[in-house]
Parts: sequence; C-alpha cells; structure tokens
Amino acid sequence: MTIAERISDSLIDRLSDKTLLQTDSFVDGAWMSGERRFDVSNPADNSVIASVGDVGEAGAHQAVAAAARAFETWKKVSPFQRAALLMKWHKLILENLDDLAAILTTEMGKTLTEAKGEILYGAGFIEWSAEEGKRIMGETLTPPFPNSRGWTLHQPIGVVACITPWNFPNAMITRKCAPALAAGCTMVIKPAPETPLSALALAELAKRAGIPDGVFNVVCGDAQKIGPVLTGSSEVRMIGFTGSTPVGKLLMRQAADGVKRVALELGGNAPFIVMDDADLDAAADGVVASKFRVSGQTCVSANRIIAQPAIADALIEKLKERVDALKPGNGFEAGSDLGPLIHHEAVERVDALVRSARDSGANIIAGGAPLVDELGGAFYAPTLIEGGSPDMDLACFEIFGPVASVYRVESEADIVKLANDTPYGLAAYIYTRDINRVHRLSEALEYGMVGVNAPMVGSFSSPFGGMKESGIGREGGKWGVEEFTELKWVILGGIDQ
Ligand code: ADP
Repeated sequence: MTIAERISDSLIDRLSDKTLLQTDSFVDGAWMSGERRFDVSNPADNSVIASVGDVGEAGAHQAVAAAARAFETWKKVSPFQRAALLMKWHKLILENLDDLAAILTTEMGKTLTEAKGEILYGAGFIEWSAEEGKRIMGETLTPPFPNSRGWTLHQPIGVVACITPWNFPNAMITRKCAPALAAGCTMVIKPAPETPLSALALAELAKRAGIPDGVFNVVCGDAQKIGPVLTGSSEVRMIGFTGSTPVGKLLMRQAADGVKRVALELGGNAPFIVMDDADLDAAADGVVASKFRVSGQTCVSANRIIAQPAIADALIEKLKERVDALKPGNGFEAGSDLGPLIHHEAVERVDALVRSARDSGANIIAGGAPLVDELGGAFYAPTLIEGGSPDMDLACFEIFGPVASVYRVESEADIVKLANDTPYGLAAYIYTRDINRVHRLSEALEYGMVGVNAPMVGSFSSPFGGMKESGIGREGGKWGVEEFTELKWVILGGIDQ
C-alpha cells in the first residue's frame, strides 16, 4: 500500500512534510507493517484518516529484542552524547511543530492551539531530560568497616516498555521516553490505538535525529496481545503507563510476576476548592482552564468544584458567563475553544453521567447535551451544573468531559473530608488568599499535586504523579529521571597496604 492509500487526502494536504505520516510500527530503526490493519478516525467528523499496521505479539517480541540489544551499547554512550542526540530530536520537533500539531488535531480532536501547546510541552521534557541526564550523580559514603571506601551509582534500569493514552498523544510519550533515554535506557512504546500517528511521527523524527536503531521503538496494535508480551518479557525491566486505573491495576498485576518496576499515572477525581476569601474572577478563570482544556479529557481536570456557600452563587454566575462563551467546534476552525470528545462512546458516557445528575435533582445551568447532530462529530456541549449531591455518579467518577459541577460545603473540615473521599489522589486545586488556609489545605489534601491559585500543575521541571489509586512514581524534574535508574552501592575493601 502506498502512503496515499493508507492516509486520507484531507490529512496529507495539510502537511508540508508528508513523510511525517507513517502508518507502520517502528522497530529496530525500520518500519514494520504487521499482519492486519486497523482504522484511525477523526473524532471531529467521524472520517477514517488512516489505516495502521498491527504488529501483534510477534512485533512486540521483536521490538523488545531490539531494545535489549540496543541497551548494551546505549547505556555506555556518554550522557553528553545522549543529550546531544536528544537535543537534535528536540530541534526537529520544534521545526515540525505545525505538521505535528495538524496530525495531533486530526487524530485526537483537540484544537490546533492546544495541539501546538502540547507539542511544546512535550518537547520541554526532551530538553529538560537532555540537560538532567548530564547531572545524574552518585555519592561517596563512609562504610562502617576498616580499610574500605564506598560509593553509589545510578545506572539505567534497562529496557522500559511504556503504554500511552490518546489524550496527550505526543507529550505522554516524551514525558516518559526523554528521561529514560537520557538515563541510558532503551524503549518500547505502545501508543493508544486512537492516536498512533503522533507516536509514529515522533519515531520518524527520532530516526532523523540519529537516535540509534533499537533505542526507541513504537509498536502499534491490539493492546490485549502486545501488553502481555511487554509485561511478561524478562528483558523488560520497567513498565511505564498512563491511562485508566483498571488497566493500570491489570498491568501492575502482570508486572508483579517478573517483579518489574512500575510507574503508573492513572485516573483522578480532582477537587477544585474555592474558599470565601478567593479572588472569584481568578477562580472562575481557573475552573475554565482546568475543566475545559482538552474538553475536560485530562486526568488532572477539575472534577468537583467545591465552593463555600457565601460565594457559591457569585462563582456560579461568573462560571455561567464563561461557559456560555465557550465555542465547541472542529479544532482546525479559528475560534473553536473545545474540540470533540475522543469518540461517540465517550459522548454517551458523559451524557449518562449528566442525565443521572439531573434525575437525582441537580440543576443544569448551561449545556447538558450532546452536539453530535449539530456539529457532526463526537461533540458535547460545555456544561455547568449545580445543586447536585456529592455522592452522585458525576461526583464519584472521573467525568473526562466538559462538565463542571459545583457543590456547596461550609466548613473547612467538611471540605477536606469531601475532597479526600475518593480512591483517587492525583491533582487538587485551592483558591484562597489566606496563607494559613494555603498551608492547612495543601497539607491535608491527599493528592500528589496541589495548585494554589493555579489551574495547571504539570511541567517538565516538577514531579507529576498521584497518591492512592491514582498511581505510583513521578514523572518530570529530577524525579522523572531517577525513576529510570537503579541505585547501586559499591564497597571497596582492603585499601590500606
Ligand atoms: P481509555 O479507556 O481512556 O482508552 P485505557 O487505560 O484503556 O484508557 O488506555 C490507555 C492505554 O492502555 C492505551 O494505549 C490502550 O491501548 C492500553 N490498554 C488498554 N487495555 C490494555 C491491556 N489490557 N493491556 C495493555 N494495555 C492496554
């Protein structure tokens, strides 16, 4: 099949560099097609945009074997040389920003502005990790034995397999593989079946950057077949995953047999707390940024807006103005604020949550219905709800859609209790101008990340990750690099002659 047969004209026409469009897996520096193919669709208009090869178990085995071979040399490459290669990759990503964003918007739906933002965010992890890889340091320790000296080494853990989601098809890959490659590990990535094209474009650029064969592999296909090869292989030393909590638990169980390290970024149920002394305009802007970014499909999206009763009505009024002004639409159209959800099942799921909230007595103040017929894709109206109970499904499950729901709670103790009353513990937000409340609340919240008067918690320089069933491990910053290393202790005896 030629590229034109595998990719729709609408996508090909948008790109200045059409060779970024790859539809086969990338194994040991070469493209591998596989036995069958699967379709990738554009959620904004339901059109099929590409037919991608599924390499299945055989391809996964080959990718792991290639990564294991490549590890033997990559781990010995100087961190400075690894950094130089990562920076070449970084440069190529920035040079191809527009094309990468167009691919991302077409397969995932987020607006072009959001897609460009994601690619810059993703590239930031590469630059940071390239620098940080040069600063992996051990320590000299004092052993309690005579005639001896001791020191520690941080060595690359080995082959890392990462399974990534569709909501950040670029950045969830770079956030894992940049620190891993910088530390000297080699990678097998299995991207989400909804968004393989962004992963394969990254592979094309990695190849052009000169990252050696086998160091960075991407295998596309059936997760149920590929997943067990990755978790079951004795050559894979670590599983990295971003996705749903049930799949994270499954991978952790599978990885347990080989006692592999796991780094899991799972679901969330973020409380967004607005105290009565908050700057309400900043809080309302913060809710919109946290809740409606990527149409609410991020694991750190505000899920429950908890407001003190004294300011709840005023906050709801400000939110309504802002939500009414949001314009859903095709991510390529200028003026679109929100793209579609990832597919029609997601629209159904979000709508079922909203309907059950309405049935249990909540008031729909804005939106509250699918826009599939009006806009021709998997769209859902930006929605604002109030008056529901904190034990309804909308408050207990991760919404993953553009639905903001406000709950009124009076005392600080009850706010903390409600905020923590969930198996999740990823991100929480607090809006207040009282410094004592900042300390009390940020310490009491059982969450891995707390934004105080700040709606964004993720960055390449800070630790991203959750407590409880939201995950294990941290990505980003020096912690993100450390995750991919083993700490080794070396003791030298008999040094006195
Ligand atoms: P979502 O429901 O939002 O798609 P998932 O957790 O199902 O979230 O998907 C995240 C990633 O996990 C995707 O790459 C998907 O293909 C992969 N995945 C799903 N099921 C499995 C599985 N049983 N084993 C390994 N990977 C899986």
